[in-house]
Amino acid sequence: MNPVVLKNVAKIYQMDTVAVPALSDINLEIRANCFSVISGPSGSGKTTLLNLIGCIDRPDQGKVYVAGQDINSMEDDDLSDFRAQHLGFIFQNFNLLQVLSAYENVEYPLLLTKMPAAERKQRVLAMLDAVGLSDRAQNRPGQLSGGQRQRVAIARALATSPKLVLADEPTANLDSQTGAAIIALMRKMQRDLAVSFVFSSHDPQVQAEADDAIFIRDGRITHIEQGNQTSATG
Ligand code: ADP
Ligand code: ADP
Repeated sequence: MNPVVLKNVAKIYQMDTVAVPALSDINLEIRANCFSVISGPSGSGKTTLLNLIGCIDRPDQGKVYVAGQDINSMEDDDLSDFRAQHLGFIFQNFNLLQVLSAYENVEYPLLLTKMPAAERKQRVLAMLDAVGLSDRAQNRPGQLSGGQRQRVAIARALATSPKLVLADEPTANLDSQTGAAIIALMRKMQRDLAVSFVFSSHDPQVQAEADDAIFIRDGRITHIEQGNQTSATG
């Protein structure tokens, strides 16, 4: 089953009396265990689309299914539980808690689960090791570089073993070399842990590395490149 299915989705922002159509006629399936990138210029609707896939927002028209669930049929409380259980998030500004160490940031989402303390510790240490930050466990974000902060955020996003991880412009605040290393790490983790990864980027180099590249412009999908194949969606 594809982890994400969108059918005839539209999203319209209401600003005073003006309706801003942010997404129109979106039909999209995100394939399981794939590294998928959403590409498009600023203002094209990438964040809006990721917010729908991440169950942070709801569509005004159409259906969004995540892990088989119609998100419009869920109450807000159930939706936030669903997010915590099934999804992981990575942000362009890292969104780490500044007063907590790298260890504590990665541990944080696990405190909301029923995982026993010993297992939790093991899990946090394994995640920090996987992102190459074992020696930085006790550092706070302010003591880490941008790339290291994003590594902490990746470890945190994957700590709860989500099926689907979403990242909005995860390299936007990193220099290109660090950004490339972060993309490579996300790719490795996506493969090693067999999760589905969806992220946005306007870096053409990143598009080439993805399994699926979804191109969006003015709130519409213009085409999708699957490996070497291109499929027009009209
Ligand atoms: P991105 O870095 O993806 O281009 P933006 O800078 O467009 O993001 O948007 C940052 C945040 O501001 C997002 O949460 C988005 O929903 C919100 N936002 C974007 N455009 C507007 C707008 N015209 N009015 C209000 N909020 C907006
Ligand atoms: P991107 O992430 O590709 O930059 P966004 O999804 O942030 O694009 O924005 C798509 C469109 O929706 C833009 O025209 C933006 O100004 C508008 N928009 C985004 N968020 C809001 C909001 N909260 N209120 C009003 N308009 C918004």
